[in-house]
Amino acid sequence: MRNFNWLSPFFIVLVLLMSGAKPATEVPKPKDVELHGKIVCLAEEMHTHYKVELSGEHEHLDGVKTKDGKYYTFLRTSLSEALFVDKRLHEKDLIINGRVFPKTQLLEVTRIRSIRDGVVHELYYYCDTCYIRAVAPGNCDCCQAPVVLIERPLNVDSLIPSP
Ligand SMILES: [Zn+2]
Ligand SMILES: [Zn+2]
Repeated sequence: MRNFNWLSPFFIVLVLLMSGAKPATEVPKPKDVELHGKIVCLAEEMHTHYKVELSGEHEHLDGVKTKDGKYYTFLRTSLSEALFVDKRLHEKDLIINGRVFPKTQLLEVTRIRSIRDGVVHELYYYCDTCYIRAVAPGNCDCCQAPVVLIERPLNVDSLIPSP
């Protein structure tokens, strides 16, 4: 049998190259989060805490301030639209699920719930003529009547599929 020992340094180099080659090209992954807090205007918060001079009629920069004082900026998507347009949600204690992107505080919202009287509530919009759910206020896709905000306790009963 022939001796292949002279090859081993090449294998070591090859293994090192393969293991070292990955991290440079790997894109860091977004982080899944569940945040408890309230909707705030981040611009106004920065004005209050850090004296940022805002222009007279500033454009609101909506985001969430968590119970432990962290700020996240909402990305505007179909699932987060309600947070921007429905001011009733600004009064509520919310549980917001979503993804935060690497090296940012940008939040992609995937789920919104509220806490009322210590009970977690599901939040959605509903047309009671067509029995259609929607994720944001506006007119029903079917009958064009405005959908209404529903805040429903999330308990054992609500495991039954929603209307
Ligand atoms: Zn504002
Ligand atoms: Zn309808």
